Amino acid sequence: MLLFFTLGLLIHFVFFASIFDIYFTSPLVHGMTPQFTPLPPPARRLVLFVADGLRADALYELDENGNSRAPFIRNIIMHEGSWGISHTRVPTESRPGHVALIAGFYEDVSAVAKGWKENPVEFDSLFNESKYTWSWGSPDILPMFAKGASGDHVYTYSYDAKREDFGAQDATKLDTWVFDNVKDFFHHARNNQSLFSKINEEKIVFFLHLLGIDTNGHAHRPSSRDYKHNIKKVDDGVKEIVSMFNHFYGNDGKTTFIFTSDHGMTDWGSHGAGHPSETLTPLVTWGAGIKYPQRVSAQQFDDAFLKEWRLENWKRLDVNQADIAPLMTSLIGVPFPLNSVGILPVDYLNNTDLFKAESMFTNAVQILEQFKVKMTQKKEVTLPFLFTPFKLLSDSKQFNILRKARSYIKHRKFDEVVSLCKELIHLALKGLSYYHTYDRFFLGVNVVIGFVGWISYASLLIIKSHSNLIKGVSKEVKVRLENVRIQMMV
Ligand SMILES: [Zn+2]
Ligand SMILES: [Zn+2]
Repeated sequence: MLLFFTLGLLIHFVFFASIFDIYFTSPLVHGMTPQFTPLPPPARRLVLFVADGLRADALYELDENGNSRAPFIRNIIMHEGSWGISHTRVPTESRPGHVALIAGFYEDVSAVAKGWKENPVEFDSLFNESKYTWSWGSPDILPMFAKGASGDHVYTYSYDAKREDFGAQDATKLDTWVFDNVKDFFHHARNNQSLFSKINEEKIVFFLHLLGIDTNGHAHRPSSRDYKHNIKKVDDGVKEIVSMFNHFYGNDGKTTFIFTSDHGMTDWGSHGAGHPSETLTPLVTWGAGIKYPQRVSAQQFDDAFLKEWRLENWKRLDVNQADIAPLMTSLIGVPFPLNSVGILPVDYLNNTDLFKAESMFTNAVQILEQFKVKMTQKKEVTLPFLFTPFKLLSDSKQFNILRKARSYIKHRKFDEVVSLCKELIHLALKGLSYYHTYDRFFLGVNVVIGFVGWISYASLLIIKSHSNLIKGVSKEVKVRLENVRIQMMV
């Protein structure tokens, strides 16, 4: 009986563990060649502001008096740059949001199994590809990208995790801490020759992680004065930092600014799920290589936001969150993060058609590389006669599309290149998911068959022991009756 019980427990444990093997597997592959566009990039440096937990509507809408809560950012939308909504995916948490933004892929579910610690899986990022990255903000976010980076070129400055309480009374202090430290850093750099030359290099990134809005949202909800006031504070801070950068670099026009958030927040102050208040985040970009505002008379969107925000006449360019990673890398001319599945939003670029076409081509090759590695891996572990390749993207098809795209570039048919590369990217992404879920059906069927087998075995065993019992009982009754009869006869 004990053996049977142990066996049953073991079988259930194996079935439970199979869930992790079938569903919680990392989609990331390794061994791709880095890809970058062979043309001079528009920017030498990039400044990324992430206002943690900032909803798109909270930034874009006007208050009851018709004034913007973030006048500086609003002015950028109208006079300097491009804007839109960045659509995030579930789970709408800080870590996956930042990974999508900076590494270009949607957080791997295998991270869940490993407890969402720093880098449960190795991945490449914009910071890793940059020459140097300096980052300021929360100790929960910054180390994630610094530890994954090869070499010592990603620098982090964060407040002590235990001292995060200094923002308990007024969470905007978490943001002013960042702004003040960035200013001090540049002040210090003027008297430090080696730092001064580093920040004058090209392909560098400055990352400002602003946690105040998220903290205020959790504590007081997004409809509160605190949350809204924090947005104003961030707007003021961004304005100061931008003017400091322009001053420091002598208005050389070689800085790109990106302002966005990792996820939004529900009306009751939470995030993690897929409600639009959590998944819609703002994206405002300006500076080197970014398109100036485009006035339009009409725009087609399924929602009524443009009217609500009174931005009907400024072209809105929506992206998926992971698309921001290739946008940033192409602006400073570093390779696209190796595991990025983002599609370069070319409409944001103020550059030649050749640059856009070449960048799209790089993007397509970079995603195709992942597809090829994934296919090879699957092929290696599958018996040759059982292997069914992804039919929509055979070797010859890949070759033909790439050759065609190259010839279009040669003949300066740039629009055709962009659409052809987009087609290739969509096929490669489909193929990636095909190989990622390749064994899922087979394993699923096996688990079901195994489970049904176990249930049948266990039921049979129970029925058998039960019928033995009945047999045993009836035998006993017979014996007793016999005894009674004998006694009566005596
Ligand atoms: Zn967050
Ligand atoms: Zn939060």
